[in-house]
Amino acid sequence: MPVYKAPTADTLFVLNDVLGLERYGNLPGFADASPDMVEAIVGEAAKVAEEALFPLNLSGDQEGCTRKDDGSVTVPKGFNQAYDQYCQGGWIGLAVPEEFGGQGLPYTLHAAVGEYMSSANMSLMMYPGLTQGAIAAILVHGSAEQKATYLPNMVGGTWSGTMNLTEPHCGTDLGLLRTKAVANGDGSYKISGQKIFISAGEHGMTDNIIHLVLARIEGAPEGTKGISLFIVPKFMVGEDGSLGARNGVTCGALEEKMGIHGNSTCVMNYDDATGYLIGTENKGLSAMFVMMNEARLGVGLQGLSISETAYQNAVAYANERVQGRSLSGVKAPDKKADPIIVHPDIRRALMTIKAFNEAGRAFLLWTALKSDIAHRSPDEKERQNADDLLSLATPILKGVLTDKGFDHAVMAQQVFGGHGYIEEHGMSQYVRDARITMIYEGANGIQALDLVGRKLALNGGRAVMAFFKEIGDFCEENRSDEAMAPYTKGLKKGLNDLQAATMWFMQNAMAKPDNAGAGSTDYMHLFGLVTLGYMWAKMAKTAQEKLGSGDVREDYLNNKLVTARFYMEKIMPETALRKVRIEAGADSVMELAAEAF
Ligand SMILES: Cc1cc2nc3c(=O)[nH]c(=O)nc-3n(C[C@H](O)[C@H](O)[C@H](O)COP(=O)(O)OP(=O)(O)OC[C@H]3O[C@@H](n4cnc5c(N)ncnc54)[C@H](O)[C@@H]3O)c2cc1C
Repeated sequence: MPVYKAPTADTLFVLNDVLGLERYGNLPGFADASPDMVEAIVGEAAKVAEEALFPLNLSGDQEGCTRKDDGSVTVPKGFNQAYDQYCQGGWIGLAVPEEFGGQGLPYTLHAAVGEYMSSANMSLMMYPGLTQGAIAAILVHGSAEQKATYLPNMVGGTWSGTMNLTEPHCGTDLGLLRTKAVANGDGSYKISGQKIFISAGEHGMTDNIIHLVLARIEGAPEGTKGISLFIVPKFMVGEDGSLGARNGVTCGALEEKMGIHGNSTCVMNYDDATGYLIGTENKGLSAMFVMMNEARLGVGLQGLSISETAYQNAVAYANERVQGRSLSGVKAPDKKADPIIVHPDIRRALMTIKAFNEAGRAFLLWTALKSDIAHRSPDEKERQNADDLLSLATPILKGVLTDKGFDHAVMAQQVFGGHGYIEEHGMSQYVRDARITMIYEGANGIQALDLVGRKLALNGGRAVMAFFKEIGDFCEENRSDEAMAPYTKGLKKGLNDLQAATMWFMQNAMAKPDNAGAGSTDYMHLFGLVTLGYMWAKMAKTAQEKLGSGDVREDYLNNKLVTARFYMEKIMPETALRKVRIEAGADSVMELAAEAF
C-alpha cells in the first residue's frame, strides 16, 4: 500500500532557518506566526494530510465520481467527511483576512501546508483549492456587498467555488470565447453558453457552488478586450444570505479522464443563468488573472506534491526490494540479494528527485513569501520589488515544478520495475494525476511564452535584472568562502548561461519572434535550473552556519550539503545544454512545410 509522511522537518528548515519568517514580524499576520506557532500549524496539517486525506487517495482514484441523470454528482466515499474535517480545521481561510472569517496568517504558511494536503490527496484538495482561488478574485475585484454575501461561507467551506474559462473551441485563446451575458436591467445578467473541463463544477459536498464565469456582454468588443467576469451561484442567494431557487446552471456531463478521478471535471451548461458582474465591464480577464495567478502557484505546488509522494514510495520500495548485489560488495549478507537502494542507478533516480523536491519546496515558499510581501508590506518599494519577483517566478514555478513533477513521478515509478505499472502500488496514479498539472492553468508551453514574451520585458526588464543581481550578489558575498565554493561555482556558471541566453533573446527575438517561441521552453527550464540552484546555495549556506553553531540536527544538515553538491554536480550542468539549444534559434524548427509532418 502507498505511504506518505509530511516532510515537516524540511518545511520548518526552509521557513525558519532559510527564509527566517520571524524577520517579517512587521507584516500583518506574521506576528502571529512565531516559530512555535508555525511548528504547531505544520504539525497539525501533517496529521490531517496523513490521517484524513491520504487514506482516501487510492480508493478515490479507483471509485471516481459519478453523475446521475438529474445532473447531480457523487464524489468518492469518505470525501464528504474528510472535506468537512478540513473545513472545520479552518484550513481554507488560513491566509484570508479575519474580517471574512479567515485567520489572516501568512500565505507562505498556507503554501507550506498546502503541499502536504495535495501530496496526500490532490483530487480532494482541488475542491477547496478552486474555492481559494475564487475567494482571491472576489477579495480583489468584488464589491463590498459581494464580499459580504459570498466570502464568509466560502471561507468556512459551506460554499465552494469554481473557475469557468474553457469552452469547446477555446482554452488558451480566450479571446475566442462565446458565452454570452445579457443585462437584465436590474444590475444582473443572463448568462448563456457552455463551459467544459470545469474542475469541481458539480458535487454535493457543499450547500452552494459559486461559479466564476467569463462571458461576453452583448455588444462588447471581439477578442480579449470584450470579456467580463461574473459570479453565477448554483442556488440563488437572498438578501439575508438564505439560499433560494436553483439557478440556470447544470452539469451536462462528467469528463472521462486519465487521472484525478476523485475530482469532478464537468461540462457546465449555462441557460439564462443569473450572473453578477465582478469588477469592471470588459476587464474580466484581468480580474480572472487574480484567480489564475493564485491557481498557477497552486498547480506548481501540485507538481511538487506528487513528486514528493512518489519519491517517498520509491524510497520505501528501494529499501525493501532485493535484487542483485551491490557493485562494491555484498551489503545484506543475510539475504539472497541486496536491497535495490544499493545500486547507483537507483540512487541516481532517488537523488535527482530528492534534490528537486527540497529545492522546489524552498522555491515555492520563497515565492509565497514574495506574495505576502507584495500584498502586505507597508513599504511601497519593498512591495514593488516583491511583486516583480512574484510575477517573474509564477510561470517558472508552474511550468518547471509540474514538468519535473511528472518526470519524477515516472522516475519513481521506474524504481518499482513492473510493480510500478500495477495499480495497487499507487505509482500509476501518481503518474496519471501529475500529468494534468502540465496542462491546466495555462499549458506549460504557454507558461514559457509568458516568461519570454511578457515577464522578461516587463517594466524594462526590472524584475529579471533584480533577480540576476540578487543571485550575483549572493555569489559575490560568498566568493572568498572556500566551504561555499562547491555551491557558488556551479551557481555562477548557471547564472552566466542564463544571462547569455537572455541577452541572445534580446538580440535575436525582436527581429524574429519565432526565435523566442522556439527557445521558450528551454529558457523556462534554464531559469528553473538556476532558480533551484540558488535555493540550494542558500540552503547550503544556512546548513553550514547551523552546523557551525552546534545545531543538534547534524545528520540532517550534513545530508543537505551532500544533496546540494549532487544538485550542483549532476543537475546544474544542464544549463549549458539549454543555452546551446536556445542559441540554435528557430530555423530547423520552422523550416519544414506543415505537410511534411
Ligand atoms: C482535468 C482538467 C481540468 C480542468 N479544469 C479547468 C477549470 O477548472 N476551469 C477551466 O476554465 N478550465 C479547466 N481546464 C482546461 C484547461 O485549462 C485547458 O485544457 C488548457 O488551458 C489548454 O487549453 P486547450 O485544452 O483548449 O488547449 P489549446 O489551447 O487548444 O492548446 C493545445 C496546445 O497548443 C499549445 N498552444 C496553444 N496556443 C499556443 C500559442 N499561441 N503558442 C504556442 N503554443 C500554443 C498549447 O500549449 C497546447 O499544448 C481543465 C482541463 C482538464 C483536462
